[in-house]
Amino acid sequence: MKKFLLFIFLISIGIFIYFNFNKNDIYTLLDDVNLYAIVDKYYIYGTHMNISGSIDLSNYSDIKLVFKSLDNELSYDLNYNNGKFFVSTFINDGIYLDDIPINDYLVFIKVIYGDEVKYYSLRNDTDYNDISYYTVTKNDRNNLISIKFFKSDKDYMYVSVKDKKLPDNYYDVVIDPGHGGEDPGASFSSYTEAELNLEIALKLMKKFDSIGLKSILTRIDDTFPSPYGSNSRTSLPYDVGAKYFISIHLNSSDSKMRYGGVEVYAPNKANLDFASSLASNIVNSANTTYSHNEAFNVDRGVYVRTFTSEDVKSSISEAHNKGYKPYPISTDTNYYFMIRETGGIATGAYIDGRNKDIGKNNYYLSNVGAEAYLLELGYINYWPDLNKLVDNQDDYVDGIVNAFKEKK
Ligand SMILES: [Zn+2]
Repeated sequence: MKKFLLFIFLISIGIFIYFNFNKNDIYTLLDDVNLYAIVDKYYIYGTHMNISGSIDLSNYSDIKLVFKSLDNELSYDLNYNNGKFFVSTFINDGIYLDDIPINDYLVFIKVIYGDEVKYYSLRNDTDYNDISYYTVTKNDRNNLISIKFFKSDKDYMYVSVKDKKLPDNYYDVVIDPGHGGEDPGASFSSYTEAELNLEIALKLMKKFDSIGLKSILTRIDDTFPSPYGSNSRTSLPYDVGAKYFISIHLNSSDSKMRYGGVEVYAPNKANLDFASSLASNIVNSANTTYSHNEAFNVDRGVYVRTFTSEDVKSSISEAHNKGYKPYPISTDTNYYFMIRETGGIATGAYIDGRNKDIGKNNYYLSNVGAEAYLLELGYINYWPDLNKLVDNQDDYVDGIVNAFKEKK
């Protein structure tokens, strides 16, 4: 009898090992793959991933990027032009990570030639680190997405998606109340921008919490966080794995201008749907207006501010005066550092420490960045705006949160 039980026990272990071994063996997907595409850039911005690189193709009928598991294949549109492939031209578009079902995947380029299908494995030509990404909290749940490239006898890109709760020191959103401490920002009557920004930001944090989004502030009192370096305004979103960075500001016009209204600043080369949604939701909820400011305006209440050629010139001459090599910037470069330096390579972060006066963004080469918006909620020196910004702060907060609720 004892021998029989031992026999059953060993058979059970054998069956267990056999099935588990096979369940995880997605590497069999590589068996018939002998073609490669070269990845020269991949990054996550906000909740989306982009991949680009080179592949040799001719006379193909269709091209897709596929996440292949043992029992499924997720397919994404891929662009191809002159030997180069890319997922999207927008930094905040491409592969929506939060939708990917829990599983293990290998990533391929799938090319269809008439009746024939060929899979190309991905060879990593970058020196980026592996990526760990937590999805935005939904019903108190998150997925952990791990992205790795391997080189063995074959090169491949591996993605695993697991159910894993957001760690205590990770957050969905970083809220940045602009200015603070020695820097009061704009002021009017008895009010300063720094104090109103903070009041609104604290209310926004509570409201995010009430809809299940975890958020953290760059400052919680009247202090001035350093812009760069460790524990700084720009390092916080990277440190806490934030998907979104919302910087709260108030505008101020010169005395001749008599208007108020909302301005939402978005990064260059972004799909502006969410920026438009932020602007319209704030206008509706706070019963305010879109700003009439025309400089850098691209849509109702939406602004994309990049360096002008004058800005580029003055940056170069500052470098010459201070004796460092000029930054690699152009008229495509994002103007606001809170937008530019929080998005890593996607938004062209460049504060690499060469100018000793302003320090270093430790993450300027990061291929993971937070999707950033700078909100100028109204004009502090325009009474109709100021009255609302003092008395009706919850309405502005509701507008911002409504835009997040509408996002899928
Ligand atoms: Zn400001």
